[in-house]
Amino acid sequence: MKGKIRVIVSGAGGRMGREVVKLVLEDEALELAAAIDRSASSQDAGRLVGLEACGIMVTSDLEAALEAGGADAMVDFTTPQSAYANTALAIKYGVRPVIGTTGFTPEEIEELDKQCRERGIGGLIAPNFSIGAILMMKFAAQAAKYFPHLEIIEYHGDQKLDAPSGTAIKTAEMISAVREELRQGNPKEEEVIEGSRGGYYNGFRIHSVRLPGVFAQEEVVFGGYGQTLKIRHDSYERAGYMPGVKLGLQKVMEYTGLVYGFDHFIE
Ligand code: NAP
Repeated sequence: MKGKIRVIVSGAGGRMGREVVKLVLEDEALELAAAIDRSASSQDAGRLVGLEACGIMVTSDLEAALEAGGADAMVDFTTPQSAYANTALAIKYGVRPVIGTTGFTPEEIEELDKQCRERGIGGLIAPNFSIGAILMMKFAAQAAKYFPHLEIIEYHGDQKLDAPSGTAIKTAEMISAVREELRQGNPKEEEVIEGSRGGYYNGFRIHSVRLPGVFAQEEVVFGGYGQTLKIRHDSYERAGYMPGVKLGLQKVMEYTGLVYGFDHFIE
């Protein structure tokens, strides 16, 4: 595509949204069309993210920004409660959605895909924009064909609500799709302390570590005859998701329909 991609950032005042605003303001291939947020409105979007003033004020009215025209895509990192409506609204105005907000149901994704096709635009919903995390999942699935004995260990901050993480579940699903049916370990095994062996998923175990100071890490440990193999990914900060967001913005300009999952773009 020639020219800059003009981007509306929805949820611009949030932890992820601020990183996206920074990305869009600093990347030469991208241009900020509008910045939308509920509580961070009425201030300059550049100042909001610690950069120079860019002349675009944060507002709380997504529809007005869409109506103003000129935007090619909308990135949304808000809440599961508002992301569906935001996405449908963007599609209605022919603005391609690139959605990082988690929590969409399969029915919602199907409906949004239909709307994208009707409007003749591309869209993306990606629960994980980290290219490294996607590669880790793919490599783990590759290794599981040869090493069917494995355990997943994921590490997150101590305030995370769900366990295991969405990425660990997705890893387990990708591994299960290619791994031979097998229930690992000693069938007579007994837990002396309940939960010691972690969560059971399709014959193997998932362990969730929760500690302050940790951001997001995951490793898949494979055991074979006389050897182990570890595939590990460490995320240290939110900026690590931004190369994925940029790639997503470039990709949605090239196809029609809604793609679910960033792994589709990583060969
Ligand atoms: P956050 O810091 O709470 O940010 C959300 C922001 O969206 C807040 O500033 C909030 O404003 C604003 N907001 C909520 N509803 C809105 C609406 N209707 N219109 C405009 N702005 C609205 O959350 P976060 O950590 O950035 O995470 C956001 C989402 O991204 C979560 O679903 C999270 O799971 C997901 N996530 C995805 C990835 C990925 O790779 N795909 C990575 C990290 C996080 P108020 O404070 O005023 O409510």
